[in-house]
Amino acid sequence: MNIRRVRAVVVAALVAMALVAMALAPAAASAGTSAGGCRVGAPGVGDPYYPLYGNGGYDVQHYLLKIRYNPATDRLVGVATITARATQSLCRFNLDFQGMTVRSVKVDGRRARWSRSQDHELTVVPQRHLKKGHRFTTVVRYDGVPRTFVDPSAPDVPYGWIHTDDGADVVSEPEGSANWFPLNDHPTDKATFTFVVTVPAGREAIANGRLVARRTHGRWTTWVWNSPELMAPYLATATNGQFNLRRYRTADGLRMYDAVDPDLYNLPIDPQDPASPTYGEIADRSLARQGEIIEFLESQFRVDYPFSTGGGIVDDAENLTFALETQTRPVYPWFFFADPVSGDSVVVHEIAHQWYGNDVALAAWMHMWLNEGFATYAEWLWSGREGLGTPQEIFEFFYNDIPADDPFWDLVIADPGIPNLFHGAVYIRGAMTLQVLRNQVGDRDFFRILRAWAKRRSGGNGTTAQFIALAERISGQQLDALFDAWLFTPGKPTYGAPAATATATATAGQAPPAAASLLRRLAEGASRTRR
Ligand SMILES: [Zn+2]
Repeated sequence: MNIRRVRAVVVAALVAMALVAMALAPAAASAGTSAGGCRVGAPGVGDPYYPLYGNGGYDVQHYLLKIRYNPATDRLVGVATITARATQSLCRFNLDFQGMTVRSVKVDGRRARWSRSQDHELTVVPQRHLKKGHRFTTVVRYDGVPRTFVDPSAPDVPYGWIHTDDGADVVSEPEGSANWFPLNDHPTDKATFTFVVTVPAGREAIANGRLVARRTHGRWTTWVWNSPELMAPYLATATNGQFNLRRYRTADGLRMYDAVDPDLYNLPIDPQDPASPTYGEIADRSLARQGEIIEFLESQFRVDYPFSTGGGIVDDAENLTFALETQTRPVYPWFFFADPVSGDSVVVHEIAHQWYGNDVALAAWMHMWLNEGFATYAEWLWSGREGLGTPQEIFEFFYNDIPADDPFWDLVIADPGIPNLFHGAVYIRGAMTLQVLRNQVGDRDFFRILRAWAKRRSGGNGTTAQFIALAERISGQQLDALFDAWLFTPGKPTYGAPAATATATATAGQAPPAAASLLRRLAEGASRTRR
């Protein structure tokens, strides 16, 4: 072996080692890496807040999630079947998944190699390269105790898979889904879902969409839910436990499923008062208004309710501290139903998210005000209809009540950062921004903007810049100054009340009920400022 040949062999060996190293280092790989004519799927979609969430190289079309959950042991056994289309040639690709034990991974029926990293990346290497445009099926078998997610900046707010005394509340915004199923975890990759959830007989399992089957075999009952409309995967739920499940249709024919924990009918709002209504009764009252609320929001947004089912889930769990707009079936904590105004407000909020947040989802997590500002504004619209304070009155209450030196005004709500993603300012200042826009462009154009945002982006995603561009196009006005002041600049914006609303100042200092309800929800503690 001559020296030149030895060098060539060494170089070839080094190149081979480098390729192997790249193939085994999931997080370090980039979309451009090539090996053998195919490419490596990126480990993230590049969300500025969560760079490793979501993955590149494929587009999920459908998740079939078969789950068996035993609340007595907290253990979950799952088989996830993920149908996706390759958007580039793929030697390998990533899923987001953490905590659970992976037993096997198959791609198109063949066993695939896989590896995991600390940062929730499950890297899958199919036996055969996937061609661009190829529709492929990945089956992941797994089990374990799903971890409840705790955000270090809000340790009192567990989310994701929340174990309860009789089941689990499953509320995964923003990054809890990867604790209970493998997925492409970013709102930009929406998909349809089928849930096959097995729980002990006598318990209920409630997921998104329509209940298509329920079968009991021995000590277990399997609930099959089909969710045929595109959904950002953080909105998936498989909440289970002891619930009174009611099925009915609204006056408009919408198929509804309400699930209320029966314990709430034994929980009086005021234990000292023998005539006190219970939390269950107040929850039922507000849920009974869902059809009316949907009809009202349709009349305001002038876009039909975007999904084929609706309903809500109310649990008595002490560790569920926020409501979440899980698609078609929001999950509510019991304590939001302390009075009818609060109950109705939170139901309006979560139903409004079905248009703004769910059907039109965020393109990146930083745009959260597009979800929370809009849903909060919907509460203000409802308040106006109920004669409990108009949006302008509520706007003025907050504007006059929060002094300029209050830290509330410091947050730049167009880029709040992860620790402040669910800060009260994202909600309140977000809704205030919409009221200022309404005053600037007038009612006609304002509601045209809301309608166009919901209608044109239905099934898709949006950014703050796209919303601003739409508002300017529809109104024909230059709105940079308005949005700069309200969304992009810390500090209290100056605001001159329009003459037409001068009467509103009469209420200054006194919180309109919808504002009081929102403040109460926020005041449940920093922990409960979320959603
Ligand atoms: Zn919300």
